[in-house]
Amino acid sequence: MEKLSQLYEGKAKKVYATEDPDLLIVSYKDDATAFNGLKKGTIAGKGVINNRMSNELMQMLEREGVPTHFVSQLSERDTLVRRVSIVPLEVIIRNISAGSFAKNYGVEEGIVFASPTIEFSYKNDALGDPLLNEYHALALGLATKEEIEDIKRYAFRVNDVLKRFWLSCGVTLVDFKLEFGRTADGKIILADEISPDTCRLWDTATGTKLDKDRFRRDLGGVEEAYSEIMGRLEKNLEVTK
Ligand code: ADP
Ligand code: MG
Repeated sequence: MEKLSQLYEGKAKKVYATEDPDLLIVSYKDDATAFNGLKKGTIAGKGVINNRMSNELMQMLEREGVPTHFVSQLSERDTLVRRVSIVPLEVIIRNISAGSFAKNYGVEEGIVFASPTIEFSYKNDALGDPLLNEYHALALGLATKEEIEDIKRYAFRVNDVLKRFWLSCGVTLVDFKLEFGRTADGKIILADEISPDTCRLWDTATGTKLDKDRFRRDLGGVEEAYSEIMGRLEKNLEVTK
């Protein structure tokens, strides 16, 4: 399958049409942004890592009953995916307080929740991805009630599967963002990516951050963190397959 016209260039990936109208090619870049595009940079090798990590995790999720857009990896940076119409909701699951949760609710980072939280934000860069609840999503016509139910069920399932997997790698899954889409036949599937750009991953033993917070907060060792987390994943994939 070959790349035809470029349909879209996002902050982290380029999206291309293919000869099959139901399939797209996503191409992962090394570009990194934070704070709604205010901070820009590059993380050398990130595209290769995020492509591979996202693909491995999506295949694991498929095996655990979560439908995803993954079709096949074409090269280091390119993956064939099912084309969906993206539901414009960023779906965030949290197991431990961090980031905007800590800031918005005035708590420290690192509080372990008794049960995970879910929140939605409206995927709209111009508005700064504002937080909203399911009633707002319904009122705005962003998704139907049934779609929101599917999204919640899949999102918690993703959390269960990934929390367990990362723990086996000595990594704590703090929180993450998912995007879902609708297929041509109206089914909700997991789309976009699952990577250190979209998850907070802390070394369980030391608390060291192994994700994009190193870039956001200028903590240094950004590339090293991405390769460390990728190495942990590679090492444990065989065990769980
Ligand atoms: P953004 O700047 O919006 O974060 P990215 O660079 O991360 O964009 O990704 C490119 C775009 O591709 C995003 O708008 C994302 O929602 C979209 N996308 C991801 N997976 C699919 C898919 N399977 N079908 C259609 N669009 C997708
Ligand atoms: Mg993105």
